[in-house]
Amino acid sequence: MSENAQTIPERDHKTRSLAVPCPQCAHFEEFTLADAPRDLGPSHNTLPTALRCSQCDTSIPLALAAHVDPSGVLDGCPACEYHTLCIQKDMNPRFGVILVTVTFGALLFSGLPIPQMLMALVGLAVLDFALLRFVVRRLLICYRCKAQFRGFPPGPHCRPFDLSTWEAHDPPAEA
Ligand SMILES: [Zn+2]
Ligand SMILES: [Zn+2]
Repeated sequence: MSENAQTIPERDHKTRSLAVPCPQCAHFEEFTLADAPRDLGPSHNTLPTALRCSQCDTSIPLALAAHVDPSGVLDGCPACEYHTLCIQKDMNPRFGVILVTVTFGALLFSGLPIPQMLMALVGLAVLDFALLRFVVRRLLICYRCKAQFRGFPPGPHCRPFDLSTWEAHDPPAEA
């Protein structure tokens, strides 16, 4: 399903973190920029240039300084140099399913007359909207190597998720 820009929240994670695939063993190595200031300023040149894979000890090159500008905006993939990152909603899908199921269950057993039931459904839609605005955050994923980036505002080449671009880089397995 392709999502339009309106469904993408404009909130980023407070802590910047990333997960990049190891070219050797495909393990996703995670890294958190815990104490880097939000506005990186001149310190953006001191961003790490490589990570070490915790599984196979391979060095994973990471061109962060080339893709993160001094204000912290990320554009293009520091792991594989691909120019377009995909903007997605970062939300625990199980959380959303549980919320909707519990609410529907409660409604069914509440014995509410139909008009009130509809009101409650409208409330649920409002709640969904509020979650999107105030809880869900942005996640950037590289179309090519699937590296994930949290807490970085997206740059001009970042686009909402597009299935055809995704499949172009991740074709279904040959039978
Ligand atoms: Zn590895
Ligand atoms: Zn990449």
